[in-house]
This record gives sequence, C-alpha cells and structure tokens, in this order.
Amino acid sequence: MQIISGTEVAGKVLTECTAQISELAAAGIRPGLAVVLVGDDPASRAYVRSKDKKCRDLGLHSVKHELPATTTQEELLAVVRELNADPAIHGILVQSPPPAHIDEAAVVRAIDPAKDVDGFHPINVAKLALEDPTGFVPCTPLGCQRLLIEAGIETKGAHAVVIGRSMIVGKPMALLLMAKGPGGDATVTVAHSRTRDLGAITRQADIIVAAIGRPGFLKAEHVREGAVVIDVGINRVEDSSIEKGYRIVGDVAYDEVAPKCRAITPVPGGVGPMTIAMLMSNTIKACRQITGK
Ligand code: NDP
Repeated sequence: MQIISGTEVAGKVLTECTAQISELAAAGIRPGLAVVLVGDDPASRAYVRSKDKKCRDLGLHSVKHELPATTTQEELLAVVRELNADPAIHGILVQSPPPAHIDEAAVVRAIDPAKDVDGFHPINVAKLALEDPTGFVPCTPLGCQRLLIEAGIETKGAHAVVIGRSMIVGKPMALLLMAKGPGGDATVTVAHSRTRDLGAITRQADIIVAAIGRPGFLKAEHVREGAVVIDVGINRVEDSSIEKGYRIVGDVAYDEVAPKCRAITPVPGGVGPMTIAMLMSNTIKACRQITGK
C-alpha cells in the first residue's frame, strides 16, 4: 500500500514555483496575491494567514485585506474593483464563506477572471469544461489531480468515482478526471447525497475521490481491494486527549480503508498542503498570463 504524501508533492510544486518566481524576478516582475477576508470566522482567518505566510515565504507580493463582519456588499465590491485595477496584484481570492448578508456569487463575478486564482468565476468554470488551458482550475481538485499524476496512478481508462458535487471540489474534480490528457481520460461517476446504493457504485471504482465533509464516512465496505483513495475531507472531531481539544480527520475511515488500497492519501498531510501549493502555482500562472512573461 502506497501512502501518497501531499506534503512531499506540495514541496515539489513549491520548488517549481520558486524557480518561476526567480525567472520572473530577473524580468523585474513579482507575482502578487490579494486575499480578502470578511468577518472573523476562526477557520477562515487561519486559512488566510497560512496563504499570506506561504506567499511571503516564497517571495510573492502578498496583500491581506481583513474587513469587519459589518462590511457591506458595496464596500466589498469596491475592494475587489480596486484589486482588479491594481497592476501589482495578479491573483485575487475572497475567502469563503463570507457573512450571510454578502452575495458570494456576485462577489465572485466581480473578480477579473484573469485574476480569479480560485477558479470560481463563471468564465473559468466554462474554460475548465471547455478544456481551455488559459483558465484557472479550483486549487483543491487541481491538487488532487497532481497527486494522482505524481503518484504514478494511471487515470486513463480508469473508473473514477467522485463523491461530492460542490463547485469547489466535486464538480471540477469530475471535469478534470474526464478531460483529455495526463491525470484525465477517466470514466467518471459523480455521487452525492441523493445517490442510491453508494457502496455498489464505489466498489466499482479504481479511483475514489471523497469530498463529502463527513468524518470517516467512507468505510472498508465501500472500497474494493486495490482501489486508489483520495481523501479531500477536513473535519474537526473532538479529542480531549489533545491539548487543543480536537483533531483533524478526513472523510475516509483511514484505518479500515487503507489496508485494502493500492494507494491512499492521509489526513492531514494529503490533499490539504496541495491546495495552498496550487494557489501559489495559479497566482504565478495568472502573473505570467497578465504580463505575457
Ligand atoms: P460541500 O458540503 O459543499 O459538499 C459535500 C458534498 O457531499 C455534496 O455534494 C453532498 O451531496 C455530498 N454528500 C453529503 N452527504 C453525502 C452522503 N451521505 N452520501 C453521498 N454524498 C454526500 O463540501 P465541499 O465540497 O466544500 O467539501 C468537502 C470536504 O472537503 C469537506 O470536508 C471540506 O472541509 C473539505 N475541503 C478540503 C479542502 C482541502 O484543502 N483539502 C478544500 C475544500 C474542502 P449534495 O450535493 O446532494 O448535498
């Protein structure tokens, strides 16, 4: 059984990013990412901090806008418009979820698609469906695909079952797996909460991508011997034996599923580190496309 280390593959992606940043620096260009956070959700705050830190570690220009929870839709749109017009910024990300009074879809549509490094703008969603390489693909599924490629998992002709149909993970994951080329060419089934007899479907899978949001949901009985399992889940479960009182687990019951697998990603240390690495990679891509370098 192969444990696919996201930490290792993310390290490789970041090394590639560093090389590209040096190349751009020689041309007098520094890729810039702006991360906008509205409100004080602790998990979102932690994500924004780690994105900002990763940018700085790599030598990217990083701007962090932390706006109060009372920020109006118009005020937020004004910040986005300002960032759209800022030549030092090549990537813009508005951390999800914003407070309930914000129309998130309208905010995403206001981001210049050329700077939409999260890949949520309708133009980029369309480009993914069209297999247009100038588009931006959401970082988490892009990271999952890269993990499969780096782990030497053949997707061509494989039956891949994606559990989850969100716009952030499940749907773009399915599009990537069915696209032509490396990390694609799979036969894809997408399952969700309305799927009848999930186990009958997942047991046919060569590759399972679990993006459900339920701790330990995918059990040994769902998986056939020799399957490859990518666990996207990040769930907090209470654990009084740890000082912080919780630990992070995936959507897969790792201990019982792993022994049946040909390869599996752990949580933590699997998909999580890939997401941020792909964000850096998307920011550099945006910079290169905008500057033509
Ligand atoms: P969503 O809640 O948006 O989507 C969950 C999906 O799972 C939905 O499509 C839902 O179906 C489906 N689902 C729920 N229950 C079942 C069930 N019993 N059987 C089959 N399908 C079910 O979550 P996200 O896609 O945003 O995230 C999924 C997980 O990935 C979460 O744990 C999240 O924390 C994690 N995540 C991790 C990231 C990372 O960097 N590693 C980044 C983003 C997310 P339906 O559509 O019918 O409701």
